[in-house]
Parts: sequence; C-alpha cells; structure tokens
Amino acid sequence: MISKKMENMVANSSAIRAMFEEGNRLAAKYGAENVFDFSLGNPNVPAPEAVKKAMIEILSEEDPIVLHGYTNSNAGYEDVRQAVADSLNERFGTNFASRNITMTVGAAGGLNVILKSLLNPGDEVVVFAPYFGEYRSYADNYDGVIVEISPDTETFQPKLDEFEKKLSPKTKAVIVNTPNNPTGVVYSEETIQKLATILEKKQKEFGTEIYLISDEPYRELAYDGVEVPYLTKYYANTVVGYSFSKSLSLPGERIGYLVIPDEVADSEKLNAAANVATRILGFVNAPTLQQKVVKACLNEKTDISYYDRNRETLYNGLKELGFECIKPEGAFYLFVKSPVADEKEFCNTAKKYNILIVPGSSFGCPGYVRMAYCVAYETIVNALPKFAELAREYR
Ligand code: PLP
Repeated sequence: MISKKMENMVANSSAIRAMFEEGNRLAAKYGAENVFDFSLGNPNVPAPEAVKKAMIEILSEEDPIVLHGYTNSNAGYEDVRQAVADSLNERFGTNFASRNITMTVGAAGGLNVILKSLLNPGDEVVVFAPYFGEYRSYADNYDGVIVEISPDTETFQPKLDEFEKKLSPKTKAVIVNTPNNPTGVVYSEETIQKLATILEKKQKEFGTEIYLISDEPYRELAYDGVEVPYLTKYYANTVVGYSFSKSLSLPGERIGYLVIPDEVADSEKLNAAANVATRILGFVNAPTLQQKVVKACLNEKTDISYYDRNRETLYNGLKELGFECIKPEGAFYLFVKSPVADEKEFCNTAKKYNILIVPGSSFGCPGYVRMAYCVAYETIVNALPKFAELAREYR
C-alpha cells in the first residue's frame, strides 16, 4: 500500500501523464509533424556548442576518480562555487563568496533543499497565482501549507494589497518566479521594491523572519532588453534558486545552484542546513561532471532569438485570431484567456485539432491556458491555421 500523500500525488499527476500519452497517441496516428504539442517546457534549442566542447575537454583532462567522485562538500566543488559567486558579483554588483553558493540538482532540487531547510510543519509558503504547480508538492514534502494570492489578470503582476493581508505570523517563505512560468511576465523593479517594503513591515510586526525565494530558471530568457532585477539587492532575506535547465538547454542534466547571501538571517546556519539537506534528500551532491561543465560555460547563453521569433509569431498570430493574452517579456510561455470559463473544455476542444495545451488550473488560475512555445518554428506556423479553425468554434 502506498502512502496517503502519494495516493493524492499520483492521482493529481495523472492529468500530465494523460497529456503526454495523448501526444504520443496523436503522433502515432497523424504523424509527429501534424501534432502541435505546446504542453511541455522542454527547450528545443540545442545546448551551446561550448557545452559539448567543455564536456569532452573535462572528460579527457580531469582525473576520473575526482571527476566522478563524491564532492568533498555536499554543496559542490569549491572552485565551481567560487566561479558562480564571481560571475554573479560581476554581473549584478553583489558580494557573494563560495560559502554562499550550494550547487543543486536543478531548480527543483534547489527549491526542495531550501524548503527542507526552512519549514516546520504548518509553516506557510506564499505564492502568487498563476504559479508553477510543483510548488504545491514541494511545500507539501515538508508539511508546509501553500497560501495563494489570487491573480491580477490585467497585468499578471503580483496583487500586493492581497499579499499584505495574507501574510501571517506563520509565513515562513514567499516564492516569486520572474520571468514567470506560465505568464512570461517580468516583475518590475517598482513591484519588487513594494514587495520588499511589505515584507520588512510584516517581519517587524510579527517579530519573525520571512524568506523570499526567487525561483529563476528563466532569468536569461528576457526579450527586448527588459531588465530582470536581482532580488538580493532589495530585501535582505532573499534566497535565489537558479538553474541551467533553460539557460543552457540542459534540463536532463539536473544542474543549478542556490544563493544564500550573508545578509540573510541565520545565513551560516541556513547554508549548513542546505548542505545537509542536499545530502539527506538523497541528492548527496549535484552531478559532478555538470558542475565542471557549467563552470566552463558561465558566460554562454542559449539562442534567445529562436524563442523570440516563436514568441512574436505565436503572439501576433493568436491576437489576429481574436485570442486574448498579454505579450510575454520573458520565459517561453504564452498565457491565453480561454474563450469559455471552463478552460479544460477548451483544452479538450483544441485536441480535436491536434493542439495540446495545458489548463490554467494547473497553475492556480482557471479560465486560462498555457502554451509553451519552445517548439520548432514550423510547429507554430503550421498550428496557426488550426488555431483559426479552433477559434471559429467559439464565434
Ligand atoms: N521552477 C519553474 C518556474 C519551472 O518552470 C521549472 C521547470 O520548468 C522548475 C522550477 C524546475 O526546473 P529544473 O528543471 O531546473 O529543476
């Protein structure tokens, strides 16, 4: 008999699995080129050539015993953590040292490590809808309680008045994700400043520490030169979770890092806790080869112009067809208003045209759907006439 918690998790994950199986079924029946799968955030731009070069070089030159061994510290190789700190300091004018960096098994691993380190049962974790649905499971892993702030469907910036009201003495963490999955919104500097002011005020009022967790796997995916503020500058109790899954197209390699700055309350203890959490969650350490690879590729970037062309084509195409959505400033998702209140029905109707999209209720925002445009450009071009047929069903 599996645990009650897992019973629920398995039941809830069946929708994602069903979508995946549906994609395979449609591809087998109609041919992959006739299926328009916008359901997954799996980058389709290959990793930069430098990644492959670095892997080959590291494999040929490094001592295999060291390279494939456990790292001395569960937080990762010292030289890699120092290189990450130096790179951040250069880019954002911060003052991090290797002690502030924990190498992680992607952003998902990092979030689990920090939540494991912070949460007591019943502690509240605040999230802004729409949000990455996995946060619910990650908080639940440590008996945390998710508190949702309802979406501002005009701008998809966080609703700060509701935020202020919902903070409580039990609030231990707030997760923000900018550029955002699923909306593509980048939180403005003004928003971040206001959010920081509210957090400062509430910490004083309750006499507690509230940790702001910035989940930023999409930091490098920002269009039109838009600035993505570095949050540690605005609020002392900020922890950053980064990932190379999207920035270097390495989602299967499972590599990222956490930044826990000295300014964070109990920083030394929290860094030590992250180290131990990495071990006892069973990660032990982030993959050693990939640590070395990202060290060599800290200045590399994915080909963002590819996603940008997809963004323009899908956004403009859907707008012309009468769909409502805001133009994403980052990441590779479009969050589109469903023409009917029940967006699951809309997703099902889309399937008739071999279009696979994800209901907004998976992100705490029913009435909307998410389309991941990290697909081949041709997929978008060929999907638009199908979207036109789909739109006609709702006229
Ligand atoms: N956070 C957000 C907002 C994401 O969209 C994802 C993956 O899509 C993750 C975390 C997990 O990323 P990783 O593959 O680095 O674990």
